[in-house]
Amino acid sequence: MRLDYFKEKFDAIVPLSGGIDSAAALYKVLSENPNKKYLVFRIDMVHGTSGNRTTREAMATEKILNWLEENGHNNFGFRELRIDYSSLGLTPPVWDSEVVNFAASLVIQSKPEISEFVEGAIQDDYLEKGFAERLNKIEKILRLHTGKSAEELEIYFPLKDKPKVEVMRMLPEELLNLTWSCRYPKIVGPWQFGRCHECPQCGVIDKILNSNPNEFPQGF
Ligand SMILES: [Zn+2]
Repeated sequence: MRLDYFKEKFDAIVPLSGGIDSAAALYKVLSENPNKKYLVFRIDMVHGTSGNRTTREAMATEKILNWLEENGHNNFGFRELRIDYSSLGLTPPVWDSEVVNFAASLVIQSKPEISEFVEGAIQDDYLEKGFAERLNKIEKILRLHTGKSAEELEIYFPLKDKPKVEVMRMLPEELLNLTWSCRYPKIVGPWQFGRCHECPQCGVIDKILNSNPNEFPQGF
């Protein structure tokens, strides 16, 4: 059973997009801290090109949470928020992580007991140009809108030392298969989504699958 959002007091907040990294961060903290209560939240980011992505990510999120419950993880509750900025044009004017942290700050204001934010950045992210600045900016967004200091709200990076392939290995196969990371899911047959194999996220996954044949499941 999921924890009741309205009745419970939560220790930490965890964004879940349904992708590999956020699923792995969630799986790790739930497994390692069974006595802590986590509030999982998903943002339905509606923007100019979100299209099938929001639908597919919502499906992945639901499947992941169901799997966690079925496998004995009962230390989380769930909320979903929708932020629609599609009227600002085809290209989103802000990074996803900025929207996620802004939305997180709204949730934390409604649950002010929360003292930890679980950030799913992985080792590879730190190698990207400008990542440190982006991280700094999204921390400011969180602090500005919650009014919480570093002592009052800790930002925890459970995957910061792990490259993508290690993050994929952390997840049980079944759970990895339920994730969805492609930014532009295509409808590839009747009632079926497939990965685009063109977006940066597909590029990373395909490279790992090609260099580690037969190691990973094929459904995600
Ligand atoms: Zn893709």
